[in-house]
Amino acid sequence: MDTTKPIKAQPVVCPHCDVEVPQVEGPGRRKLYCTPDAGKQWRQRLRALGFPV
Ligand SMILES: [Zn+2]
Repeated sequence: MDTTKPIKAQPVVCPHCDVEVPQVEGPGRRKLYCTPDAGKQWRQRLRALGFPV
């Protein structure tokens, strides 16, 4: 991770399907998943593994 660049200028890869997630310019949180559903499934998997997410 390069901390000299804005966080949104750095590529984000969806942990669920390994595809790069395009970021929306401007304020707000980074998009971490390609779709809300991918995020949901990813958290479900983490919960199944015992992570408190
Ligand atoms: Zn995804």
